[in-house]
Amino acid sequence: MDSDVIVVGAGNAALTAALSAAESRADILVLEKAPMHERGGNTAMTAGIFRHAHDGKQDIIRLVDGMSQKDWNGIEIHPYPAKELYDDVMKLSNGKADPVLSKVWTDNSYETMLWMKEGLGIKFAFTDFFTQTASAIKEFMGPEVIKAKDGGPGLSSALFSKSERSKNVTIQYDTKVESLIMESGSVIGVRANAGGKTIEVKAKSVVLGSGGFEASRELRSRFLGGAWERAKVRGTRHNTGEALLAAIEAGAGIYGDVSGCHATQIDSRAPDYGNIEITDKTSRYSWPYGILVNKEGKRFVDEGEDFAPIAYAKVGRMIVRQSDAIAYQVFDQRTVGLLEKEYGTMAPITVQSFAQLGEKVDIDAVQLGKTVEEFNRSVDGARAFNPRIKDGRGTRGIRPGKTNWAQVLDKPPFVVYPVTCGITFTYGGLRINEKAQVLDRHGSTIPGLYATGEITGGFFYSSYPRGSGLTRGAVFGRIAGAEAASSAGF
Ligand SMILES: Cc1cc2nc3c(=O)[nH]c(=O)nc-3n(C[C@H](O)[C@H](O)[C@H](O)COP(=O)(O)OP(=O)(O)OC[C@H]3O[C@@H](n4cnc5c(N)ncnc54)[C@H](O)[C@@H]3O)c2cc1C
Repeated sequence: MDSDVIVVGAGNAALTAALSAAESRADILVLEKAPMHERGGNTAMTAGIFRHAHDGKQDIIRLVDGMSQKDWNGIEIHPYPAKELYDDVMKLSNGKADPVLSKVWTDNSYETMLWMKEGLGIKFAFTDFFTQTASAIKEFMGPEVIKAKDGGPGLSSALFSKSERSKNVTIQYDTKVESLIMESGSVIGVRANAGGKTIEVKAKSVVLGSGGFEASRELRSRFLGGAWERAKVRGTRHNTGEALLAAIEAGAGIYGDVSGCHATQIDSRAPDYGNIEITDKTSRYSWPYGILVNKEGKRFVDEGEDFAPIAYAKVGRMIVRQSDAIAYQVFDQRTVGLLEKEYGTMAPITVQSFAQLGEKVDIDAVQLGKTVEEFNRSVDGARAFNPRIKDGRGTRGIRPGKTNWAQVLDKPPFVVYPVTCGITFTYGGLRINEKAQVLDRHGSTIPGLYATGEITGGFFYSSYPRGSGLTRGAVFGRIAGAEAASSAGF
């Protein structure tokens, strides 16, 4: 049962580590807590979007197969240099992201995408984030051009099938790693609960890729604060942080935005945990085109501060602090046509008046009426509404104001979606260095211990550029696997 390298978890970060280590002749044992039918972690529930650096179309051509020259002629892709990606990470973390680790993942992001495609056989496709210009050209404005074909489920099943085909990777399910076996300050294996029995497995090195602690109510409350007990979990129910605690117990330092997390607006009727059928389809990201109110009928955020991919992680977090962690996105017939297709997965509450809304849901409808009246009066119509750009069409004289996309709400029926806070993943975690070695509280390496993905901290603070989690996990997964195999003598 002992192995050269143990990899803990079987999401994107862990399996890229396992497959990278497997490029040597080392034997890799992957220990995954979930039973086989729930495998894949958060990764299998993602939209599969990868944010990575690139030099425009010639780089993307190498990643996406099955397109004719004519197809490519109809596509415009603006370059997204590594420096710009790095700057976005820094901007959204208010300058707090670890500069060394951020440089490693942003500089290696394109190379790693190529490795995933050419080395691991992952198929990539285009995201929907383009606009069609008059000359029928698809123009990708932002940096999120690529996603895994068939999203998170496609990515996860491609990673599993590559692992299953590899002669030196074995995956054992139903095995929850609970502690690390140490000898003279080095990690030499793990203790795990395998189907109710405690087992010990020895290895020359161990890679932790077991995700964050977002699915543990207790750890959420301890690290993020009491209000977070109320959040729903967008991803797997298995990311409850045992391996993180085991590493801390073994002397690892905790790093990054330990009280921070990524959380978004999801439909309040979503289940308590994510699953592979739902993936990210309960997301509600078109709020910038309407208003967002709480049960008291009051606005509490600048809905038009920025585009959804930039602002979405922040706004989700604000909802957990509203009464009963509930809010309502309100649209009218002017903007309802702009809602993302995910809205189609659950029926809206459609009403002719706010009084009627008060009969259907628990909201102060009188106050809501006043809020909308005040909002409508404040809309400065000097600039034209344009959802493709930050149009500067804002409000005047109300608090909070709305910076962009402010439209008078006066064309019923009003279309209302109840939303709550869905936690995606936690930002804080283990401290690693550029070789993905886990560092102790004093900044020294813990021999034999590596980590990648959402169990690591120092990358994201307060907000997050969409599509960065998968890329960051794969970049450090590749590094962790190679380093763990090398330190095991391969
Ligand atoms: C709905 C949703 C949509 C998302 N969309 C995107 C997106 O499009 N792009 C993007 O970049 N990011 C996205 N994310 C963020 C996503 O969480 C990460 O980017 C990425 O999937 C995390 O990978 P990971 O391997 O670190 O963790 P995970 O994929 O969660 O894998 C962790 C694994 O470890 C296992 N595990 C946990 N504890 C133990 C233990 N004690 N012992 C053994 N195994 C254990 C778990 O069962 C799980 O399989 C999304 C997240 C969600 C929830």
